[in-house]
Amino acid sequence: MKVRDPVCGMTIEAEKAAANGTYGGQTVYFCAVACQRKYEREHAAGAAKAH
Ligand SMILES: [Zn+2]
Repeated sequence: MKVRDPVCGMTIEAEKAAANGTYGGQTVYFCAVACQRKYEREHAAGAAKAH
């Protein structure tokens, strides 16, 4: 399954993803742990602003 890393826009194979996490019930895959950290930082910042 091909997925897109939302941080850098890279297309990767889900089973080869370096990291993944579930956000809002959706599994998101990343090419690198650094991308996941960045996503979580932005995701948390956005949620904090929304509430
Ligand atoms: Zn990436």
